[in-house]
Amino acid sequence: MHILATNDDGVRAPGLQALAEAAEAFGKVTILAPNRNWSAGGHVKTLTRPLRIEEVVLANGRSAITSDGAPSDCVALADLGIVEKPIDLVVSGINAGPNLGHDVTYSGTVTAAMEAVIAGIPGIAFSFGGYASPYDLETGKAIVTQVLERILAHPLDKKMLLSVNIPLLPLDEIKGFRITRQGQRIYRDELDKRFDPRGRPYYWIAGEEPDGVVEEGTDFGALEDGYVSITPLQLDLTDYQRAQQIGPWFSE
Ligand code: MN
Repeated sequence: MHILATNDDGVRAPGLQALAEAAEAFGKVTILAPNRNWSAGGHVKTLTRPLRIEEVVLANGRSAITSDGAPSDCVALADLGIVEKPIDLVVSGINAGPNLGHDVTYSGTVTAAMEAVIAGIPGIAFSFGGYASPYDLETGKAIVTQVLERILAHPLDKKMLLSVNIPLLPLDEIKGFRITRQGQRIYRDELDKRFDPRGRPYYWIAGEEPDGVVEEGTDFGALEDGYVSITPLQLDLTDYQRAQQIGPWFSE
């Protein structure tokens, strides 16, 4: 079993080390992750500039490869030959913050796993399901271990794409796992207009941390109830009901 570990918080993020340490119990782990923070960087394929890679040694002594590309670029680089093949599984995270509801296409953590599935490799994104500092990495590692134990007890499906969100609770207060759907994210973005020293305006997308609708069956609902949320995703975003509705509009 060869597992590629990546993230969007940058190669030196503690969550990535925790993820890689947990994954090592299941096989050989190679780390190829961005050299800077790409949180909310989205699903990127860098085609207009070259990508560079560098070998680095992490705080825990583990060696890793880093690139100046996005998380999805890192997965593409790995698949295209930067790391030894085959790659059996891509794990991404553990992200310092939740990836819930509509977050998934913004998320570098999740889009790295999406890139894996595009390359024909199953991908699992792991995120801490709330905002905290510091994160409880031991709990994160324990949950990653439990998820991988269950997943790897079955044949791997190359289309499997999972987004796992870990509640911010002590391990013994986490009640178990729920398979969920994406809930409704509520963003609280506000435009913060400022002026540079030459009097020209510039803008930050600012505002409070996003919220979500706590509803049974959703990622938000599971976390609220103290469960690990596991949302199976797919890259087919087609709205089949909409196709039925608007089909007649275009039939003549
Ligand atoms: Mn992040």
